[in-house]
Amino acid sequence: MDNNLLREKIMAPFDEKEVVDILCAMIFIPSHKQVEWQENRLAEYIYDFLKMERIEDIELDFIQENRPNIIARLPGTGEGPSLMLNGHLDTIPPYNMIIPAYNPVVKDGHIFGRGSVDMKGSLAAMLLAMALIKRTGIDLKGDLFFTGVIDQEQRSLGTVKLVEDNFKTDYAIVGEPTNLEICRAHKGMEWMKIIVKGKSAHGSTPEKGANPIYHACRIASEIEKFNKELEQKEDEVVGHPTINVGVIRGGDDPNIVPNVCWLEVDRRYVPDEKSEDLYEEMQRIVTRLKAVYPQYKTEIVAMDDRVCPIKNTPLYTPVNNKLIEALEKSFLEVTGKSSTVTSFRGWSDAALLDRKLGITSVVFGPGLSEKCHAADESLKIADLIQAVKIYVAVILEICN
Ligand SMILES: [Zn+2]
Repeated sequence: MDNNLLREKIMAPFDEKEVVDILCAMIFIPSHKQVEWQENRLAEYIYDFLKMERIEDIELDFIQENRPNIIARLPGTGEGPSLMLNGHLDTIPPYNMIIPAYNPVVKDGHIFGRGSVDMKGSLAAMLLAMALIKRTGIDLKGDLFFTGVIDQEQRSLGTVKLVEDNFKTDYAIVGEPTNLEICRAHKGMEWMKIIVKGKSAHGSTPEKGANPIYHACRIASEIEKFNKELEQKEDEVVGHPTINVGVIRGGDDPNIVPNVCWLEVDRRYVPDEKSEDLYEEMQRIVTRLKAVYPQYKTEIVAMDDRVCPIKNTPLYTPVNNKLIEALEKSFLEVTGKSSTVTSFRGWSDAALLDRKLGITSVVFGPGLSEKCHAADESLKIADLIQAVKIYVAVILEICN
C-alpha cells in the first residue's frame, strides 16, 4: 500500500483527545531531580502504556537507582532503514512557577504544566505515533525505536548510556521543542571554572592583601568584551558563538580580604571551533591580565562533573539526507505548508547520537523553545496534534 493511503488508514481512528490525555497523565507524574523516584515513575507509566498497546520489546535499563532509560522497539522486517524517536524523561524542578506544576490545566487551546513543552508533549506524540502504527498491524520494513532517556537536563547520562552501548539506528529524531521546525544544527557547550587566588588580610588593612574578587571582576569584564568579539565569528547555520559569566563566588565577611574567588563560565561554540581551543583562548585573557597584576594566581578547569561526561559537542547534520527530506515531505503532507530547516537554540542529545554514534539526527518537536523552563510553561494543543501526524508520516517515510 502506498504511504499516503497507509497513513490515512493509521490516522482514521486517531482521537485527538487521546494525545492530550497522555500528556496530562505524564505532567501529573513529576520527574525531576528533587523527587525521590526521579524518572522512575514516568518510565513505569510509559512501560505500562506500551505493554497495553501490545508492544512487546521493551526494556527498562537502570543507569542509577530510580533512574532507568526506557527502550522500546517495534521490529521491522529488516528490509528498510531504522529510526529512533528519542526524548528525555526528566524535567527541571518547578522552581518559581506561577501555574500549578503537576495539575495540568487545559485552557485556551493550550496545556499548562511543568514538562508540557520540555518535553512530555513530544514524548506523548512519539508514543502515540508508535501505538497507532502497532494498532493498524502493519509490518514496517525498518525497526522503529523509542528511547526515553534520563538526565538530559543535567549531564545527559541517559543518552550517554546509549553511546556506551553502541546503540545503532540509521536515523534519529530528538523531540525537543522546535515549534515543528526541522533543526539540523546547534552549538556546542563548554563550562569552565576560573579560580583566582590572592592573599588574605584583615578588612581594615586591604593594602596588605591581594583581593581576588577585584581580579575576578577584571576577568569578568574582559569576558564581556570578548563576547562582543565573538559576534564577528558568525556561522551561517547556528549563528555566532557566545560566552557568559553565570556565577561569581568568593569571600565570607565584609571585614576580610578573601584569598579565593571563582567564576563559572558558559561558552557556546560553533561547529568549526574545538572545545580544547576554548581553554587556550581563556588562558590568553587570563595571561594578559597577569602581566599587569602578577600578584594573582589563576587556574582554568573544566566543569566535567556538571556537564555531559563525553562533551556537549555541536550538532551539524548536512542538509541533504533522507531524514530531512522525509520530515519536509511529512510536514507538507500534514500541514499543507513548507517546513523550515534551521538550527536549534539550545543543546540537545541529538549531538551525541550524531557525533558519537554516527546516527543521522535532527531535533524536531512541538512547542516554543521560549516556553521551556518557563514559569507558565505550556504547549499549544494544535501543535501537539500536528506532531502526532507528522511523526506517523515520517516513520512511514523512513521505515516503510
Ligand atoms: Zn528538553
